[in-house]
Amino acid sequence: MLGLMQSQNLLISGILKHGARHHAGGEVVSRTHDGTVHRYTWADVERRSRRLVRVLQTLGVGQGDRVGTLAWNGYRHLEVYYAAPGMGAICHTINPRLHADDISYIAGHAADKVLFVDLSFAPVIEAIADRVKDCVRDVVMLCEAAAMPEVKLAPGMHLHCYDTLMDAANEDYVWPDFDENTASALCYTSGTTGRPKGVLYSHRSTYLHAYAAALPDVLCARAVDRILPVVPMFHVNAWGIPYACAMTGAGLILPGRFMDGASLAWLLNEERVSLTCGVPTIWMGLLQHLRTSGERLTTVKRIMTGGSATPPLLVEAFGGEYGIAVEQGWGMTEMSPVGTYNSPKQAQQGLTGADALRHALKQGRILPGIDMKIVDGDGNDLPWDGSAFGDLLVKGPWIASAYFGDEPGSALEKDGWFATGDVATISPDGFMEITDRSKDVIKSGGEWISSIALENIAVSHPDVIEAAVIASRHPKWDERPLLLVVPKPGATIDPASVLKIYEGQIAKWWLPDEVLVVDELPHTATGKLQKTTLRARYKDHYMGP
Ligand code: AMP
Repeated sequence: MLGLMQSQNLLISGILKHGARHHAGGEVVSRTHDGTVHRYTWADVERRSRRLVRVLQTLGVGQGDRVGTLAWNGYRHLEVYYAAPGMGAICHTINPRLHADDISYIAGHAADKVLFVDLSFAPVIEAIADRVKDCVRDVVMLCEAAAMPEVKLAPGMHLHCYDTLMDAANEDYVWPDFDENTASALCYTSGTTGRPKGVLYSHRSTYLHAYAAALPDVLCARAVDRILPVVPMFHVNAWGIPYACAMTGAGLILPGRFMDGASLAWLLNEERVSLTCGVPTIWMGLLQHLRTSGERLTTVKRIMTGGSATPPLLVEAFGGEYGIAVEQGWGMTEMSPVGTYNSPKQAQQGLTGADALRHALKQGRILPGIDMKIVDGDGNDLPWDGSAFGDLLVKGPWIASAYFGDEPGSALEKDGWFATGDVATISPDGFMEITDRSKDVIKSGGEWISSIALENIAVSHPDVIEAAVIASRHPKWDERPLLLVVPKPGATIDPASVLKIYEGQIAKWWLPDEVLVVDELPHTATGKLQKTTLRARYKDHYMGP
């Protein structure tokens, strides 16, 4: 027998309609390209997103079409976030920090029809125009008419100004109803082997994730809060914060391209931010600024950090010197992204000193609605005793089942579990802690670097016979690549000559910080590089004495 409750599709437009109707005056504040502050409300976001649907329709965007963005956190980007899915199209956020090859591959793979581009990324779009001209017909610069730059596109592509298009459109659009399983957003991750892979979210998954992320033991987003996601909107939906804020009526503060310590401290105080979220590298920058300038944060109560392990210094310094709690979350692009959050249970409430710090370094408890487990190499469950470690698997309605373009379910293991590529322990009371990573990638400042891509280039050096790139912990960037090379018999290798061959082939920030010449590299019985041994040996190479 079925229940007798009303059935209603869980749509992203429903989140926005709620924000506009019940938190009409809730503020959305953005720093724009020139550093000025733009402010409007959730009612304005909803009204203008309807207007933007009309623009998208004029540009020929229909249901299921991909609408790409290359943009910082700002109000125009937010409007694309809501307008594209609201009409049944798909908002595809692209990471502009990637190499032009990857960006054009991603836009081509997604078959983006239109690209919405911030002024900062005009050079990026020029660099890729020729390679994406088969799918991208229109490029819309996210600015006012007076700021329109000259952008050289390929023949057949059209350049537009966002504000001009918006001024010419009307707001008569009515949000349609459709299946909540319809795709809503697309985000590529480089945290896998090979080319970046697309994760295709649905309205339902986004809605449920926003509900869970807003819970008291997670973001604890309330209408009186003002939340500043430093995490970019091109990184997994800015951790779902743009949705959780509209859902709860919290104010949303968007920093644009200004993410250095001084700019953040100014905006956090000026806009009375209560919670701010981002990767550890950002918080290290903010901490350094506060310590050198003597400034204090007057309203921030909590800093949520995630994307990489929390450096103990963050917890100690923000907690001890500034009275601000640093709380850790863990997740991944394939998880929408939030999977766990470290909020105390009764037993952890009284912890102090070293015990409190030790506990804060754990990645946390699973969010309700999804599940996790750790398994050994044969897929057998491991005990939750805080010391047995194994592959971390997850399952639930906001976790990917396949990558974009692949068969549904093709990314899953036995019984529908998704292997995260992280290695973890789980304590008896359910706190997960990451101990290692089985996937072969390096995370620097919240962004992935492919070790395989770097190794392939290294072995093109005439004197290198074998190469390995591993993640080594780094005080500022969390991790940086360390390259180990073995010389061909009789050859000697000049490390500088190895670094030179990377020129023009990779984004500059991918360049290994150091090249170590070694006699040999460890291998497994089947001849594969034994990265675990290398990681254990060199993991602190950049941490100094
Ligand atoms: P992404 O898909 O770019 O969000 O990256 C997800 C991966 O980042 C995870 O699988 C982890 O390897 C890593 N990660 C995310 N959050 C944390 C955290 N709090 N501690 C350690 N690693 C993390």
